[in-house]
Amino acid sequence: MTPELTRLTAVETAAKIAAREVTAVEVAQAHLDRIAEVNGTLNAFLHIDTDGALTQAKRVDAGEVEGPLAGVPLALKDVIVTRNVPTTAGSKILEGWIPPYDATIVERMRDAGIVVLGKTNMDEFAMGSSTEHSAYGAAHNPWDLERTPGGSGGGSSAAVAGFLAPLGIGTDTGGSIRQPAAVTGTVGTKPTYGGVSRYGLIAFSSSLDQAGPCARTVLDAALLHAVIAGHDPRDSTSIDADVPPVVDAARDGDVSGMRVGVVKEFAGEGYQDGVTVRFEEAVATLAGLGADVVEVSCPHFDYALAAYYLIAPSEASSNLARYDAMRYGLRVGDDGDASAEEVMAATRAAGFGAEVKRRIMLGTYALSAGYYDAYYGQAQKVRTLITRDFENAFTTVDVLVSPTTPTTAFKLGERVDDPLAMYLADLCTIPSNLYGGPAMSVPCGLSDDGLPVGFQVMAPVLADDRLYRVGAALERATGSDRLLEQVTNL
Ligand code: GLN
Repeated sequence: MTPELTRLTAVETAAKIAAREVTAVEVAQAHLDRIAEVNGTLNAFLHIDTDGALTQAKRVDAGEVEGPLAGVPLALKDVIVTRNVPTTAGSKILEGWIPPYDATIVERMRDAGIVVLGKTNMDEFAMGSSTEHSAYGAAHNPWDLERTPGGSGGGSSAAVAGFLAPLGIGTDTGGSIRQPAAVTGTVGTKPTYGGVSRYGLIAFSSSLDQAGPCARTVLDAALLHAVIAGHDPRDSTSIDADVPPVVDAARDGDVSGMRVGVVKEFAGEGYQDGVTVRFEEAVATLAGLGADVVEVSCPHFDYALAAYYLIAPSEASSNLARYDAMRYGLRVGDDGDASAEEVMAATRAAGFGAEVKRRIMLGTYALSAGYYDAYYGQAQKVRTLITRDFENAFTTVDVLVSPTTPTTAFKLGERVDDPLAMYLADLCTIPSNLYGGPAMSVPCGLSDDGLPVGFQVMAPVLADDRLYRVGAALERATGSDRLLEQVTNL
């Protein structure tokens, strides 16, 4: 099969299939061949679903499903459940578990003719910023194999950047779609909380978790966003409102007259020079395109990281209680005489990795009697103040912007033993999760170290279309949709 098929965007792929220049089966096979060739190097996929992919591709070729993404291959983060296809969330504790149902977004993608190639690598239960906390080994960044493709959704970003799939799905609790997008030169969006169903998304921190698209272009991301978004009665936090016009906005890309606020707090010390330079150039580009750029202060953003690392572990400590050795996957120490409690303790000790245990302990502590008010309660108050910062800002600007990450991709091994250094990767992405508004990372060129820099756009709740408008404008002005042509080392 032609390797060129793997270099196409989602829009180009779907157009070729619709015009019958190529079959969906040929497209799927080209990607499966590419995965067979390079996944040993990237460790992007944990499970490859050859049969499922080819079956779905045949349905497309038979004309059973149609749509703007029919026949387009996709890399699915292994935290989204798939019927009869292994789902591990990057953890040993779910090894061998075969889900009995599909997530809502998986059903929607199947109905849209999207071809899921397999399940991608991630930090265990989406806790991390590098994939080094995966129980199945780290994924590698196609730009530089010694560096991280980000995390937690580094498998999907590596797959999209490395031409293993034109589309990916990630989940973003504190930045896990946007940070991997930033460090791999891809586009990633965290939709408005409640805009995309969480039914079938394995819970980390339920008030923050949100699935969203990864792609090589802004329009590809918008098309996938439109497929997965929309009300789902099976998710009680799903918003019953029209899906924002993300595809129209991506096609339009006009930012003239748009009011853009540069977040004052996300600059200065700790920001790599090459990141700052590219970010400031991108802001100047938007001004040149007619946007009205001002500086905006969001004073409580400085406390977002601290609040997040109380709220997210607190919710995780509760959510992860369900891994009790009885219901899913791994069971250790069941010798016939052991009590249920002993089996549970042995299984959790063997099945969870160090970072997950750290979060469960932190969260349990923050929620415990006597400490609840001082930690969890205080963090919730800070969350309210951050939400007010956003609401105040959006009375004067249409979007807020910042670098997505303070640095470009860091080296594997560099931060893995220093949780605080690892946590800093999400400094700029966490506020949007605490607020619930949508946010995107779009590439804005390469730093002087030759690695991609991400530009973050944040918008009010249910104004996801504004992200795509700004993202498309930048992409056109900087040619960032061709950035990945420079990935040639695979
Ligand atoms: N890196 C952050 C964390 O470790 C965010 C992860 C995420 O968004 N899933 O919690």
